Amino acid sequence: MTWQQRINSALEERRAADAFRVRRVVENGAGRFLTREDRQFCNFSSNDYLGLSQHPAIVRAWQDGAARFGVGSGGSGHVSGYTTAHRALEEALADWLGYPRALLFISGFAANQAVIAALMGKDDRIVADRLSHASLLEAANLSPAQLRRFAHNDAGQLSTLLDKPCAGQQLVVTEGVFSMDGDSAPLRALHDAAKQQNGWLLVDDAHGIGVMGDEGRGSAYQQNVKPELLVVTFGKGFGVSGAAVLCSDPVADYLLQFARHLIYSTSMPPAQAVALSASMAVIRSEEGAERRQRLAEHIHRFRQGLGALPFQSTDSLSAIQPVIVGENSRALALAQALRERGMWVTAIRPPTVPPGTARLRLTLTAAHKAQDIDALLEALHVASQ
Ligand SMILES: *Cc1c(COP(=O)(O)O)cnc(C)c1O
Repeated sequence: MTWQQRINSALEERRAADAFRVRRVVENGAGRFLTREDRQFCNFSSNDYLGLSQHPAIVRAWQDGAARFGVGSGGSGHVSGYTTAHRALEEALADWLGYPRALLFISGFAANQAVIAALMGKDDRIVADRLSHASLLEAANLSPAQLRRFAHNDAGQLSTLLDKPCAGQQLVVTEGVFSMDGDSAPLRALHDAAKQQNGWLLVDDAHGIGVMGDEGRGSAYQQNVKPELLVVTFGKGFGVSGAAVLCSDPVADYLLQFARHLIYSTSMPPAQAVALSASMAVIRSEEGAERRQRLAEHIHRFRQGLGALPFQSTDSLSAIQPVIVGENSRALALAQALRERGMWVTAIRPPTVPPGTARLRLTLTAAHKAQDIDALLEALHVASQ
């Protein structure tokens, strides 16, 4: 096959399976409304769970940070790109989440790649929840370590896999709140299973941080579990972008030596670190608690209404509320029907989710109003007729 044939056949295959992905240009895609071509939609697609992406104090913090530090960091943290703003944010994160250290990364994808690449060698084994995020499974696939996957949230099967002989070290990998199903991992049972074999637990809490637990400390804190490695990301509940790895002093020092994404990549702009510190302050404040409360009310309202409709869901208690319809074409048609009623929703199809489980991944946020949830339920009701 030539290059041209290879590319064309891959594209053809995607189109034939109703799985061809396109991006749509929007004016503004976070917050309560999404605007596109002068039309306003109620936005049920963004991961801005607390509605912080438009928060005036956080926007101002970024502006003030840019006025003070300029727009770029000028290099990796190892050269000249580790400013007082980065350090202040790392220290505040470590203090908030109860870890000795926090290291900033430019994205959750980069953090997961870096940590797994730096820690795992060829005698080691990664045992990951089957539904772990693409950034985790991609890193595991690229790693020389063996990869085994356990059935979703099945601590028993995890133990069975960990019990098999392994010459090196074992790392258990899971998410705190699962990105496509919205359910939570049984972190205590997973951590106990890991400890039984002297393994470590890595929890990627992209969807739990800021949203779950007291002061928004996330899934692990809420379940009173302290994973050896905690990855938190800032593009979701924080409303900004970036990520951090929380860990012990020696692990942080180790990552600073061996995590290539830290060493060979420009650090995040200092102004972004200033904005992230402001976002964290909001999350920890009374206002943050109120936003979490509002989100919880929306989730309750939505699940009550969804129960009366002929759709399959998961037992998600999080902001991520899947409506599972099965076939790709059906998910696309449902998304289209909702768009026509002014709701911006996204159809999620394989390979992002397992075959036959195409779905709408609806996300509720603190920026919504109760009437938005009611309108969404009404639109789903009409579409189900
Ligand atoms: C979104 C997400 C990531 C990637 O984080 P970015 O900061 O957007 O790169 C990693 N893990 C999970 C579970 C996610 O949902």
